Amino acid sequence: MSDSVRAKFTDSATRQQCELVIPPGGYIFVAKGSDKPKIGIAHPGCPELADLTLELDAFHCPACGFNGRVSGAWAAGRIQAVTVV
Ligand SMILES: [Zn+2]
Repeated sequence: MSDSVRAKFTDSATRQQCELVIPPGGYIFVAKGSDKPKIGIAHPGCPELADLTLELDAFHCPACGFNGRVSGAWAAGRIQAVTVV
């Protein structure tokens, strides 16, 4: 198995450095308790990956409440480059 692809970007809401994390065979929507690899956003000061909502150009972390903005088109392009659909 190869490693996750990580793509850095600056969150346009907080100006903080975040990272789109795409594990091999990852999914954007993963049910709680599932062991499927999750695509999400690494963000400052939190070990969890935030949930990505491409159509809203946004991400949100239920663990720490972080809200950020990311281009859905950019993120979708990164994901499509990695994930074979
Ligand atoms: Zn968080």
